[in-house]
Amino acid sequence: MHDHRKLGRELNLFDTDPLIGAGLPYWLPDGATVRHALEEYIRGAERRAGYRHVYSPVLGKRELYEISGHWSHYSDHMFPPMDVGGEQIVLRPSLCPHHALIYRSRSHSYRELPLRMAELGGMYRSELSGVLGGLTRVRAIHLNDAHIFCTLDQVADEAQAALSMIRRAYEVLGITATRYRLSLPGPGGKYVAAPELWQRATALLRDVLDRSGLPYEQAPGEAAFYGPKIDVQISDGAGRESTLSTVQVDFHQPEQFDVHYIGADGGKHRPVMVHRSIIGSVERAVAHLIEEHGGAFPAWLAPTQLVILPISEGEMPHAAAFAQRCTDRGLRADIAGPERGTLGARIREARLVPYQAVIGAREAAHDHVALRLRDGRRLDPQPAAEAMASMVARVEAYSTGLWEG
Ligand SMILES: [Zn+2]
Repeated sequence: MHDHRKLGRELNLFDTDPLIGAGLPYWLPDGATVRHALEEYIRGAERRAGYRHVYSPVLGKRELYEISGHWSHYSDHMFPPMDVGGEQIVLRPSLCPHHALIYRSRSHSYRELPLRMAELGGMYRSELSGVLGGLTRVRAIHLNDAHIFCTLDQVADEAQAALSMIRRAYEVLGITATRYRLSLPGPGGKYVAAPELWQRATALLRDVLDRSGLPYEQAPGEAAFYGPKIDVQISDGAGRESTLSTVQVDFHQPEQFDVHYIGADGGKHRPVMVHRSIIGSVERAVAHLIEEHGGAFPAWLAPTQLVILPISEGEMPHAAAFAQRCTDRGLRADIAGPERGTLGARIREARLVPYQAVIGAREAAHDHVALRLRDGRRLDPQPAAEAMASMVARVEAYSTGLWEG
């Protein structure tokens, strides 16, 4: 496996500047393109699964986190509050409290449940500068987060559906879970009280894992302060494990924020909150993708999907026209003309690009292209429109294979 920090710099994906600060990376255009494709995939998958997206601010009053329990259980990881006109404002350590308030701002009937609220939003963690590095340990995090407000009866199906979304996402991203973990409270940890609620939540998640047929291990001491969770673990090149995706059951925050729904009986009832993240933070997800693929991303994620290689100056107009057609169809296409060196040198330079289209005089005359695939395969010259349609179809299907066969 590769080191994402080294590769990230070499491939112009992201970098840092001491003046911005440690743990605060910025994304260069190619890295931003990968991130954007990833975010769009997630939003699309969530839309299809019945989630609605919201935006909420990255700041909140200290009081908000006192109510959620973050202030007493999690303040070691929070930035100190800012005094603004006598009020204390903090950078949020999680999105849950904002989402609980958004839910609470409108009245909800039992017919609206499960209500699935998603946001790919910023949150902050005051990591010490000694442990910061690359995209894996950062102070500004962009989390693929969602909260499902539902009845107790709906929790298992929602958690199961979230697990399926996670497995499908790993498939299209070409990554593998190291193991599944049922994360439980441990001795000496900071947890909210009510042991019977912990037992209920744990039993629900255990049932979901058992029904899924996935092998899993129990991990005491790894629960969130407000509830147990299913963690999906990944490993880096050095074998270090970290959590990418989670599904959590929370009885605590609905109580704290006094959220409710109107039941069929006309009375007020308390919903359960299921917290879930499909790819975790975009920072950690992209770091892992870089290491897993060594920069050779699945075609739908690649910063440049197609490089067009005119053999000589004479094919340049044809190459430009083909690039425009591909761009119009949504492909990220680039031209590497003869001014950038010999054909062999240009092919080597584009070795991480999934598709290379060579256009010589004969191809130009027939509106053909000769495709070369990143995996070394060379296809016979074919009509440019056909080649384009095949590439578009594979990209739109989030295929991890470059071609048939
Ligand atoms: Zn949450």
